[in-house]
Amino acid sequence: MPEPKILLVEDDKVQGLTTKQYLESCGYAVTWVEDGKSAIKTVKTQDIDLVVLDLILPDMSGNEVCRWLKLNQDTRGIPIIMLTAKGSTSDKVASLTAGADDHLTKPFNEPELNARIYACLRTKSLQDELREKNRQLEDLLTKLEILAITDSLTQIYNRRYFESVIEKEFENTLRYKTPASCMMIDVDHFKSVNDDFGHKTGDTVLKEIASIIKNNLRKVDVVARWGGEEFIAILPRTTKEDTLIAANRILKTISENKFEGINRPVTVSIGIASIPDESINNAEKLIHKADTAMYEAKKQGRNRVIISE
Ligand code: GH3
Ligand code: MG
Ligand code: MG
Ligand code: MG
Repeated sequence: MPEPKILLVEDDKVQGLTTKQYLESCGYAVTWVEDGKSAIKTVKTQDIDLVVLDLILPDMSGNEVCRWLKLNQDTRGIPIIMLTAKGSTSDKVASLTAGADDHLTKPFNEPELNARIYACLRTKSLQDELREKNRQLEDLLTKLEILAITDSLTQIYNRRYFESVIEKEFENTLRYKTPASCMMIDVDHFKSVNDDFGHKTGDTVLKEIASIIKNNLRKVDVVARWGGEEFIAILPRTTKEDTLIAANRILKTISENKFEGINRPVTVSIGIASIPDESINNAEKLIHKADTAMYEAKKQGRNRVIISE
């Protein structure tokens, strides 16, 4: 562990030198300044672990320095030990109120100062450790949250997440009387892709298709993997007509794409259903209608888009 860096703020030259030498003999790296402004500047520019702060300084009171450091986001975690000459209860209360972590009455006993510094640094290091653990935990939680809503193969959203999104979107549509559309996309003859080129190549194709679909829709549209080789999208505030344009763009891009490890085109069939529609009164029905339209596209020869009646 590197030697802790202590900022000593003391305007009395004799006292300052004595304390600096003592603290150095205890194994600390000591920066000594003689007024409040220099103290604040040093804490801002150097990596200080603890401040030993005299209460009475030539330019401002130690309490003011203390308050400044404790109000500042970057410096508030640095422990401050206040050195008061008077030792009256009101002085102690004022220092603690200003945010000092501890205080010592002058003239102080040097080993006692060392012991208090040690205690403050120990508390700080525990707090730092705790903060770091919390940060790691938060990172982990974020990762877990993402993992829970992501499809592991294609890295787009999974079915469970999509179901919750479309429920919410359905309610928004009802409340704000805006349109919304759902797209069901199924890869044509995907079984033969696996049979002819292997399952691994099939996986690559699915990943590429997922990114083509995503890249051809807006940021507000939510795309998910619905099942094995089926994808689904919800397009908020989008009419049937506009959804058809997007669907045809996806259809064309996929059919013209050169997929890795495959020497023939891959196509998809797309079904579209939109709201408002009198026959659709919940999200499940919207999905079902898009699915039925997709099956109609299969029936009519695949590689096409069908809009639900
Ligand atoms: P259709 O045009 O009627 O949709 O024919 P299809 O062959 O695509 O449909 P079918 O439902 O018969 O077959 C789907 C295939 O998708 C079968 C299954 O092995 C494959 N599949 C599902 N999930 C995955 C996956 O994660 N990776 C790979 N490589 N294949 C998958
Ligand atoms: Mg002084
Ligand atoms: Mg299929
Ligand atoms: Mg299918």
